[in-house]
Amino acid sequence: MKTQVLVIGGGFAGVAVAQKLAKQGIDTVLVDRKDYFEVTYAVLRDVADPKQNNGNARQYYQQLLTGRFIHSGVQQLSHNSAMLENGDSIHFEKVVIASGSSYPSLPLAKSSNAISIDARNQELHQYHQQLQTAKQVLIIGGGVVGVELAGEIAYAMPTTNVTLAHNGHALLDGFRSKAQAKALAQLQRLGVEVKFNARYQQQGEHYVDSNSGDVLRPDVAFAATGVRPNNQFLQQQFAHTLNPQGLVKVDKQLSVIGQDNFYALGDIADVGEAKLGYLALEQGNYLGKRISNQLKGKRSKGYSRHPFMALVPTGQETGVAQLPFITTTWRTLLNMKQKDLFISKTFNELSH
Ligand SMILES: Cc1cc2nc3c(=O)[nH]c(=O)nc-3n(C[C@H](O)[C@H](O)[C@H](O)COP(=O)(O)OP(=O)(O)OC[C@H]3O[C@@H](n4cnc5c(N)ncnc54)[C@H](O)[C@@H]3O)c2cc1C
Repeated sequence: MKTQVLVIGGGFAGVAVAQKLAKQGIDTVLVDRKDYFEVTYAVLRDVADPKQNNGNARQYYQQLLTGRFIHSGVQQLSHNSAMLENGDSIHFEKVVIASGSSYPSLPLAKSSNAISIDARNQELHQYHQQLQTAKQVLIIGGGVVGVELAGEIAYAMPTTNVTLAHNGHALLDGFRSKAQAKALAQLQRLGVEVKFNARYQQQGEHYVDSNSGDVLRPDVAFAATGVRPNNQFLQQQFAHTLNPQGLVKVDKQLSVIGQDNFYALGDIADVGEAKLGYLALEQGNYLGKRISNQLKGKRSKGYSRHPFMALVPTGQETGVAQLPFITTTWRTLLNMKQKDLFISKTFNELSH
């Protein structure tokens, strides 16, 4: 099989770039291990209170994409072709690496092995069922995902005891202290017990804090600790394109450094922006335009980085917004996200 542009990975970055290219009439193939795109922003609520989003956070690539889609993983990349896990090879003129990141400690956030929508729905349903019978839930890790998960569970299941254990002295590392304090107060109002400077580790059926010696016996525990770049298919021939964190090194125009006709963006790339879906989508829009200009012999400006912004829900009614100049808990602003966790906004942006 041959294509002008091969896009590896159908997350926010890959779908955005593939759509821009295909709509310009450029022959584009997107390959992904899954058969569906998922709005990650919504999955924590899918676990805590599935009726809210009603399965709308996932859509088949076949329905979403304008160009071609192949349901398989890339096993090995070479200079002008990719070998797939199904045994096929695809030859390309240009390749876009958009393979993102995995969340090995927390497959509910990004699935490790649900490659079809049905399997993913079932996986999320099973987590929901576990939570429904749990009296005590432990969440390890007080970053954005841990904070949101604690808020979603405490809000939707008010009789469940939720403990959030964080190994630092403030939640939401890297956020302004005002945002950290507001999120803490909101979680505590929902009844979440927050433990700071705690390092709980599983020992048999128990979780022991190696700092204090405290022992917890949760019915369900989740570790929201750390993502890993999906770079396995680059290890053999292109290890030199990776930085020490395993991210693909790119220049200002999102070309892979030292590798002609290779581009990278989103969570897998060292773009110098926060690892966020809305930024991956912005990068995809830019790169789609850039590649299409390049094919027409036109030059493009470099990618302009965006300031960090985050809307972090703590349950279905409250949350914290950190914008370039303010930190706020203003309901009207947060409701823009609370309405459907940006599911319809994301699909609108990716379809047009
Ligand atoms: C629970 C959760 C909540 C989040 N909430 C927000 C939020 O509110 N706002 C925000 O902006 N960001 C949020 N994020 C971050 C956001 O999801 C990521 O930044 C975003 O998913 C990155 O997009 P991407 O396209 O770079 O990579 P990914 O979304 O990781 O997509 C990569 C794709 O590549 C595929 N793939 C990987 N390896 C291969 C291979 N070898 N062959 C073929 N396909 C492959 C994967 O199956 C996947 O579909 C959240 C993340 C999580 C986990």
